[in-house]
Amino acid sequence: RAKEKGRGNFQFYETYLTTRAKERLFLESELRDALERQEFHLHYQPQFALSGGELIGAEALLRWNHHEHGLIAPDKFIPIAEESGLIVAIGEWVLSAACSQAKAWLDAGYAFKQVAVNLSGAQIERSDILATVGNVLATTGLPPRHLELEITETYIMRQAKQNVRIMEELRALGVSLAIDDFGTGQSSLSYLKRLPVDKLKIDRSFVMDIPQDSNDMAITRAILALGHSLKLTVLAEGVETAEQAAFLNELKCDEVQGYYYSRPLDAESFRKLLAKQKFDADLFD
Ligand code: C2E
Ligand code: MG
Ligand code: MG
Ligand code: MG
Repeated sequence: RAKEKGRGNFQFYETYLTTRAKERLFLESELRDALERQEFHLHYQPQFALSGGELIGAEALLRWNHHEHGLIAPDKFIPIAEESGLIVAIGEWVLSAACSQAKAWLDAGYAFKQVAVNLSGAQIERSDILATVGNVLATTGLPPRHLELEITETYIMRQAKQNVRIMEELRALGVSLAIDDFGTGQSSLSYLKRLPVDKLKIDRSFVMDIPQDSNDMAITRAILALGHSLKLTVLAEGVETAEQAAFLNELKCDEVQGYYYSRPLDAESFRKLLAKQKFDADLFD
């Protein structure tokens, strides 16, 4: 009996592993076809200036609508795309789709400062990111100042010296750079001082428990002080409540993004939001 039971457990364990491995393999092989099947699209999460409330732009967020399985979350497929190298082609699609959309909005007369696109570390390592960004800007005709690239703090710090050079070259193209998920990646202050960036994005995990968690409030306050002393714009991610907004406003946080203001929107809904704002057309030039 014990033997039977043991075997049963073993089989269960084996089946469990195989199922996970199978799911990975399945997703990887489906990801290979997803571009051709046109299963990707972008959502745009609005970003606002905190004091004046202006809509300054949006972060482009990748969505995968699989023909049989429906929406699959980025947290599930991006790591697989990174490990398999598929992130290079997918990331290029994201850049090109976001830039041509942004250019179309500008051509239609809407005013906004920028569209932000996430770059993955694997994408930077495995491709000539400088050439890709340059080509996409040239092909779409988007003026570089309307593109911001987000790179995570964890990735930047992993090979800081080499990344500083790549970031300098990217910035020389005229795009702006933001450090994503800031506060989770143990930046050394000496590197941070030398990083060619424009913006820090405070990670959602610190904003989430404001005002219950006094440690998170202290960290948020410290990041804002640090960012401002380095003359960087600071944006808080994942703002979900009025209390969080009020706390950030008191600390003179520059920009905000989060469900309290808006969920990520499809392109048409974001366009409508742009249309509601009567901006001076030169405001963001
Ligand atoms: P991220 O770059 O930090 O993007 C912010 C994520 O937080 C988005 O999740 C967004 O929907 C979510 N979020 C925004 N506000 C709130 C809020 O108030 N509450 C909560 N609970 N969540 C909020 P999403 O779209 O699922 O993306 C997850 C991650 O996947 C992104 O984190 C980014 O690391 C990655 N990702 C998404 N699109 C791309 C892409 O095109 N390329 C690459 N390399 N990575 C991407
Ligand atoms: Mg991001
Ligand atoms: Mg983030
Ligand atoms: Mg994140």
